[in-house]
Amino acid sequence: MKSAVVTGAAGFLGSHLCDALVAKGYFVIGLDNLSTGDKKNISHLLPQTDKFIFFQCDVVEPWEKWVAQISASVLQQVEYIFHFASPASPIHYKRLSLETLWANSVGLGHALNFAQSTSARVVFASTSEVYGDPEIHPQPETYWGNVNSFGERACYDEAKRFGEALIYSFNLKHQSQHGIVRIFNTYGPRMSRDDGRLIVNFLKRAQENKPLMIYGSGQQTRTFCYVSDLIAGVMAYANSNICEPLNLGGFEEVTILDVAERVKHSFGDKVGVEFFEATQDDPQRRKPDLRKSLEILAPWRPSIGLDEGIERMAEWMRQCD
Ligand code: NAD
Ligand code: UDP
Repeated sequence: MKSAVVTGAAGFLGSHLCDALVAKGYFVIGLDNLSTGDKKNISHLLPQTDKFIFFQCDVVEPWEKWVAQISASVLQQVEYIFHFASPASPIHYKRLSLETLWANSVGLGHALNFAQSTSARVVFASTSEVYGDPEIHPQPETYWGNVNSFGERACYDEAKRFGEALIYSFNLKHQSQHGIVRIFNTYGPRMSRDDGRLIVNFLKRAQENKPLMIYGSGQQTRTFCYVSDLIAGVMAYANSNICEPLNLGGFEEVTILDVAERVKHSFGDKVGVEFFEATQDDPQRRKPDLRKSLEILAPWRPSIGLDEGIERMAEWMRQCD
């Protein structure tokens, strides 16, 4: 039976990735230290012991402990290692700054070394943050970025940039075919209510009848990708033989104020907004140049617009209450 390893399996994206892999017939080995993830995101998979196994562990620690518990025949069948373990929300990576640096460097190193013994392909979850506060818009993969290496976002931005460099050098040295997806803001069910990222935070505040919090002027922009579109892109990338980084994200560029208006509207305009000081080094304009991804990963194409995605996410959050 073909198998795959997902690090960060109990997180938002990792858990959806586990679902997609199980649906495709993979035996999935999920790893997570539950620092920002939650076992309930994978609770539906846990009884399926012939399809899914979970180890609560820190990917920065040596991997031998959990590897020893997997049979050699399963290990030989590992085709993919999706390295998604890392704090991802600004509030969490600022709180867990050293852990973030280690997860994307030492943790990724363990994934690459493990892949050597199984001939698996590693797919590393990189980020639009490698472009920092971009001076080029939209951001193509060829843009080198505008990143502060000595500030509060540096632990995340530079850790992901290091991870990309590690994969580049590893491929060169070992003639391996590991790859990188640069994920732009993605949202959807299973984001923790305490995640702090924009859409889940706005919806949480609106559901609690509290004003939406806007950091800075609200004129800064992002695009937003619904989780099912993102996972389809990650799977298409894994299935390709591409090793260079590809952008994955949504099309529509919106201001934070625009997102606030949409969330307010979906709650019958009953919630207000409050403004707070901008956070340090907050990227002012962000939008992926998706031309390369659309060409290479065709027919992949994000299909769920922001209004529909917000409605789906709000409905999911209501059901969780
Ligand atoms: P998340 O916080 O929901 O998931 C991350 C998971 O990794 C959590 O379950 C956490 O417990 C686990 N983890 C963290 N450090 C670990 C460690 N040392 N050992 C084992 N497990 C560990 O966040 P997410 O949005 O699902 O992000 C997943 C990955 O995708 C991250 O690498 C993130 O940088 C990347 N990414 C996400 C987005 C997005 O918009 N969601 C954008 C860019 C990149
Ligand atoms: N933001 C906001 N209110 C919130 C959460 C986020 O105004 O409740 C802003 C944040 O300052 C940033 C943008 O929304 O300008 C996107 O933030 P998020 O944390 O979702 O991710 P980022 O793109 O910064 O990694």
